[in-house]
Amino acid sequence: MQMKKLYGGIEAGGTKFVCVVASRPTHIVDEIRFKTTTAEETLSKAIQFFRPFVASGQINAIGVGCFGPLDVIPESSTYGFITVTPKPGWSNTNVLGILRGGLGVKIAFDTDVNVAGLGEYKWGISKGFDPSLYLTIGTGIGGGYIKEGKSLIGLLSPEMGHLRIPHNRELDPFVGNCPFHEDCFEGLASGPAIEKRLGIPGARVPEKDPFWNLEAAYIASALMNYILTLSPKKIVLGGGVMQREFLFPKVRWRVRELLNGYVASKSVVENIEDYIVPPGLGNQSGSLGAIALAMQLDERSHDPRV
Ligand SMILES: [Zn+2]
Repeated sequence: MQMKKLYGGIEAGGTKFVCVVASRPTHIVDEIRFKTTTAEETLSKAIQFFRPFVASGQINAIGVGCFGPLDVIPESSTYGFITVTPKPGWSNTNVLGILRGGLGVKIAFDTDVNVAGLGEYKWGISKGFDPSLYLTIGTGIGGGYIKEGKSLIGLLSPEMGHLRIPHNRELDPFVGNCPFHEDCFEGLASGPAIEKRLGIPGARVPEKDPFWNLEAAYIASALMNYILTLSPKKIVLGGGVMQREFLFPKVRWRVRELLNGYVASKSVVENIEDYIVPPGLGNQSGSLGAIALAMQLDERSHDPRV
């Protein structure tokens, strides 16, 4: 019997790293999770984990979904670097170069949200929906847009969390906490923005608190803009803030209200419960997306047209 080919995947988060060896979601051969400490220590742990699989020839391609800000432009001299980050010890780290140097295999590299979006498209709730959008609302806010199985990268990787959205200062006097724009989407609606505004973490704000209507309105404003510009066929909302599941019906209701019948698609008008949804892969969108990214890289390198 022929064994399914294995791939390596790294979900490189600012808080934790998840490394997996798998062929598909139902066939995960090994997995390790550890805290993100210094760049040197964290990347060497990842290298040690994969080394036996590489040495025995079981994997020849690894996908990485990495926290940012990242340089994801292949033509750039700092491609594969984390650029300038407030995270101590990580600015100007050549993540891709260190992993390639330590493992000697093909490595595909993209942002954490793009890779999570790819995971949901390949195996999760966005499967069969092209294009699709994955948005994480947690410590930060970011979006990955997947079209024809690829993430959208242009001038840079899109920064969907920093959209300008309406902010009624009478209703919500909080100035916002984005160091660049104050009251952009992330500055108003991320986990740290909620905590700074209310003095307690979002996880402890009661469901009946009227604040959640405001939060849902901010999320819905951003979604309206993505729907009108990118026309995704599925919108997946992940991240810590969206763990509060009661937000989903509030966001859907508000999106429909804001669009006001203008987008006459059945997905929005009749089936919005299936249009704006939680991730299908739970907390594995990122690590499995990294496997999907490695798989794509491997398939491309076997393509005689390349
Ligand atoms: Zn911002």
